Amino acid sequence: MSPRADDVDESAIAIRVADVRARIADAAAISGRAAHDVRLIAVTKTHPAAVVRAGVSAGLRDFGENRVQELVDKRRIAPEASWHFIGRLQRNKVRFVADGKTLIHSVDRTALVDAIEARAARAGVVQPVLVQVNVGDDPAKGGCEVERLRELVAYAHEQSNIRVRGLMTVPPLPPSSRRASDDVRGHFATLRGLRDDIVGTYPTVRELSMGMTADFEVAIEEGATMVRLGTALFGTRESARAKVISTEDPR
Ligand SMILES: *Cc1c(COP(=O)(O)O)cnc(C)c1O
Repeated sequence: MSPRADDVDESAIAIRVADVRARIADAAAISGRAAHDVRLIAVTKTHPAAVVRAGVSAGLRDFGENRVQELVDKRRIAPEASWHFIGRLQRNKVRFVADGKTLIHSVDRTALVDAIEARAARAGVVQPVLVQVNVGDDPAKGGCEVERLRELVAYAHEQSNIRVRGLMTVPPLPPSSRRASDDVRGHFATLRGLRDDIVGTYPTVRELSMGMTADFEVAIEEGATMVRLGTALFGTRESARAKVISTEDPR
């Protein structure tokens, strides 16, 4: 973790949090919902641990990481917060993540379900998960194929120490020549349709984790119940890296 806690501009983060919350409320209103129907997950990956403290001070209650080691390190700083694992998860790292509280957004295969079930049973917890869906069929993105989703949800649902809470997606990047929102809106609508289909059979499958900095308002309009925001709250990750590098190497 970066020792330069003083480098984190707490007031800038507080201002961004307020701005993002206002944008969430506006987008929620468009879909006839209240701001508190949408959970704001602050994605702190690559940023120093001090942003977690600054985020807590600014009222953030949910934090997300996409690497196991960073999750473990930062979760320690704010154990009272709700933590989310949003990256690809290897079976041999499940034990660091599956504590029965951290929501795993990225369940995408039966082998991972097996590993989570084994760990959760041993720990005597019920592990909440989301099933990640590759709605755009993008080889660069994680998630199970749309055609396999039902089967995977059914499989996870059968486990006694796993609770499937919903679905998650990271849509493909649209071609740069086109406006992002049209393509992306279709992908978000697809995920919502899949959820609407499945929730009849599996009533716990309610959450829709979709929307990042570039597209979270569209995602909310399409029904997101969780948005995962890094850049909008903490600035670009390039600047975070540059800061750490310049601290380590003053040349
Ligand atoms: C990094 C990341 C985010 C946040 O991305 P921003 O564009 O910075 O908001 C959201 N979801 C996942 C899965 C991520 O890896």
